[in-house]
Amino acid sequence: MTSDREWFADRVAIVTGGGSGIGQAIVQGLAREGSAVVVADVVPASAAQTAADVARTGGRAVDVVVDVSKEDEVARMVKTAVDRFGRLDLLVNCAGNLPAGKPVVDLAEAEWRSLLDVHFTGTFLCCRASMERIAEAGGSIVNLSSSYAFKGRPNGADYSAAKAGIFGFTRIVASELAPQATANALAPGPIDTPRWRTGLDPEQLAAKRTKRVKDVPMRRLGRPEDIADAALFLLGPHARWITGQVLHVNGGEFYP
Ligand code: NAD
Repeated sequence: MTSDREWFADRVAIVTGGGSGIGQAIVQGLAREGSAVVVADVVPASAAQTAADVARTGGRAVDVVVDVSKEDEVARMVKTAVDRFGRLDLLVNCAGNLPAGKPVVDLAEAEWRSLLDVHFTGTFLCCRASMERIAEAGGSIVNLSSSYAFKGRPNGADYSAAKAGIFGFTRIVASELAPQATANALAPGPIDTPRWRTGLDPEQLAAKRTKRVKDVPMRRLGRPEDIADAALFLLGPHARWITGQVLHVNGGEFYP
């Protein structure tokens, strides 16, 4: 049986949205296991800081500024991985902008398209640009869906549609990558990241935390590391016969 360390040590990974929150924790986890990581993010300073932190602790990382909804920028991101590290094994699609937070009747077409462009089309473009190399390498893809792909709630149509699209899309990618490589989706529950805290003052944040924790049998919000551990499992040697699946990581908040 291959150990995690042996498996990850030779691998080259791209993590989109790698400059913050869940993506950043996945970058750190992969680097700790010895993989070389492309930290891909639309915010240059976040990507650069995350890559620099990895390098400071002895890991291998390079930052790439990319808008995942732009085909040419995605092609450049994949080229950077191959030019810099010689191969591409692993892809994690974490990049995501914020939903409009409006009911369907108030949702502008531009708002709808903007969310789907990044989360859904971005995931498609990054998979399409990487799949041949990942198949050749016998690697793996993990796409970030969400528990909101499965649950109904008001004011989240754009986000739920994108995240439900991602798990449907992931099944097809898995079938097209087989038998060489795997693809799976992760459906996190509430994870305490910068995204989750956006726009709230300390009082509002405390109220949101208290309210959300009540729904979670494990009695705490998720941490980015909870999702990074699940991502590394799906990317690693112990998940070699798992493909086309959605793994729910949510402290028991939701049972599909
Ligand atoms: P985050 O905001 O902390 O990180 C998202 C990153 O994506 C940021 O660094 C941002 O700059 C980057 N990004 C945004 N638009 C981009 C673009 N066009 N191209 C490239 N990068 C872009 O968010 P997070 O909470 O870590 O979320 C990461 C992923 O996990 C998202 O897909 C999100 O929908 C999903 N998710 C999060 C939660 C949660 O509760 N935090 C729950 C379920 C799913």
